[in-house]
Amino acid sequence: MTLAPRRLLSRLRDLRARAAAPLPELVRLVAAELVSEVCSVYVQRPGDILELAATEGLNPKAVGTTRLRVGEGIVGLCASTAAVMNLPDAQNHPSFAYRPETGEDPFASLMAVPVRRSGRTLGVLVVQNRAPRHFTEQEVDDLETVAMLLAEMLPASGAAEGRTEGLGATVPRVFAGTALMAGIAIGPVVLHGTRRTGIKLLADDPEAELKRLHEAAERMQRGLDALIAGVPTGGRSADASASREVLEAYRLVAADAGWLRRVGEVIRGGLTAEAAVQRIAGEMHDRMRRISDAYLRERLADMEDLANRLLTTLMGEEPRGPIPPGAILLARRLGPAELLDWHAAGIAGVAIEEASPSGHAAILARALDIPAVGATRGMLDTAEPGDEAVLDGDEGQLVLRPEADVRQAYARALEARGARYAKWATLINRPGVTADGTAVSLMLNVGLSMELAQLDRTGAAGIGLFRTEIAMLARGAIADVGEQAAIYARALDEAKGRPVLFRTLDLGADKLLPGTVVEEENPAMGWRSLRVGLDRPALLRRQLRALLLAAGGRPLSVMFPMVATVSEFRAAKALLVAEARRIRPSPERLSIGTMLEIPALMWQLPELLKETDFISIGTNDLLQFLFAADRGTPSLYERYDVLSQPMLDLVDQLVVAARAAGVPVSVCGEAASRPIEAMTLAALGVTSLSMPASGILPVKALLADVDLTEFRPVLAAIRRGDGGAISLRDPIANWARERGLPL
Ligand code: PEP
Ligand code: MG
Repeated sequence: MTLAPRRLLSRLRDLRARAAAPLPELVRLVAAELVSEVCSVYVQRPGDILELAATEGLNPKAVGTTRLRVGEGIVGLCASTAAVMNLPDAQNHPSFAYRPETGEDPFASLMAVPVRRSGRTLGVLVVQNRAPRHFTEQEVDDLETVAMLLAEMLPASGAAEGRTEGLGATVPRVFAGTALMAGIAIGPVVLHGTRRTGIKLLADDPEAELKRLHEAAERMQRGLDALIAGVPTGGRSADASASREVLEAYRLVAADAGWLRRVGEVIRGGLTAEAAVQRIAGEMHDRMRRISDAYLRERLADMEDLANRLLTTLMGEEPRGPIPPGAILLARRLGPAELLDWHAAGIAGVAIEEASPSGHAAILARALDIPAVGATRGMLDTAEPGDEAVLDGDEGQLVLRPEADVRQAYARALEARGARYAKWATLINRPGVTADGTAVSLMLNVGLSMELAQLDRTGAAGIGLFRTEIAMLARGAIADVGEQAAIYARALDEAKGRPVLFRTLDLGADKLLPGTVVEEENPAMGWRSLRVGLDRPALLRRQLRALLLAAGGRPLSVMFPMVATVSEFRAAKALLVAEARRIRPSPERLSIGTMLEIPALMWQLPELLKETDFISIGTNDLLQFLFAADRGTPSLYERYDVLSQPMLDLVDQLVVAARAAGVPVSVCGEAASRPIEAMTLAALGVTSLSMPASGILPVKALLADVDLTEFRPVLAAIRRGDGGAISLRDPIANWARERGLPL
């Protein structure tokens, strides 16, 4: 199969202009030009069915008859994964589905390419040959270009675009996803650039197109610089300054010339600049779907966002027009700059089909205070602009076209929330204290410097967990000592004397720097975190030095993550003590503590308590290791509970032993941010809780109303009763509700 892509493209262009029903012509032309014995087009029909719509080389009687479900057979697999299938021996592939009516027995090799538009699969383009062989990269590239053209033709041939409902559907639909940022929004939906049509595909003069591309790229870069420069660096405009760090990382991606070069190559193959950018954006989107590493996905998402921005610039599209008040944005993916644009336009909420809580969009949504939901798959297939929707950022769901009573219930919840917010606001400057007068210090978990603004906004008592690795992940590499010291000094400056507990680098498992290759079967239990630090002491020492320099004589608290044995803690502590001897000025006070994330430490308490200045329980990892339940597996999420007998017994025993030894204990996992958990931990004697910003005021509000002297005997009875219960959450929550406590 050899090909002159420009010649094929110009023939296809002629064909498009001439033929009313061009599919049979198209497959004939492609088969001839690619010198392949079979070329077929499968088109997606309603109900996730792929139907053979045209073929050259297979039995013509199979057209309109041969059907596969999405996911079934090689063609179905290509549609469901949006991945190119390049198989020398297709019939022995485990997914092969034999369809005798097609007469495809003699053809061994097969290449299937998805036909996609705006992120949706419209069909599959297939070529087959008798000789068993791999198709070359050039051949794959060429067929993908044809598929792109086909994507413009298929809607006219009745392809279903993977939509399950016709336009103008009115039935309510609920899309369950992931909560990214709490809050409720009710309003009409606006769609984020999902259906861009009318792009000219083929160009006669590649040089002119390349020139347009580079001019547009420069314009885009200037626009981006202006957007970022318009974000104030600090002070009162906390929301805006909070976005800066993510945007800086984004600007680095924009400045990387690699992807523009790739667009240039596609233009040289005969496409217009717009079509080439769209094609590369599509490829990035598909690569992203296959990458599990969260960090790399974010980088690719930034690139896809940039490609869309470049497309807008190339097409000379106007900046966004006015949007209706209270509008809810629905997006397949959303880059940080795009979210800023929409925020400026006044959106009240956002739902993103492909977004995770740790993604850039989620980080920014939290910084900007926009209720947000992720992983609401399928929503864009059903929503139409202007449809009414309710976005529930607490439960992580989007209700499209809600029933009147559902809408009213949410409207009431929104009103009540307003009242609750007003009450919370009065708590900002009050210390955390329970109704019986027990002081509980409520601290902030921080990863990026932009989150420091939350210290004053929530009235947090300090930073109970500074995740130092997050800034390194954001920049894609470990910063040098000076840069690290600047990051840590900024945290101490903005804490203004409030305590800050720095945790040393916790890299590995799901937190990987680019280029890290993980060959372990269980990275969460593998070579990660302090284990790396002790094996690469130069790395850890550099960080410890940076922390000491940042303190510059102020008090310094450092803790080590993933400590499994006292000897590991001793070794880490020795490194810090040695560095501290060399650096002047010495910290006014140096506290060295450990996280408790690995249950084994519980059986080393007598020794540990002699060595450590404080202990911070990381409930996220501790729960995962106590119950052997991967913290990233959604189906296990509700199965194992901090409010369970084993976990409460563990905390109880630790608090009792630590109190006797005079060692303070805090909790810094996500559990601390949930009011019922916070109340229970406080009753067990934990008087320092560190959490994401969103938890501080709700927890403070609940604690203010709880009398621990009354709750403690109730909790003791609940823990004694119902032996073997999976969770003690219900009886604890019931007690709180009976008391009318604000859960
Ligand atoms: C924890 O494990 O609870 C913790 C706070 O650390 P991280 O979530 O960063 O692993
Ligand atoms: Mg942890």
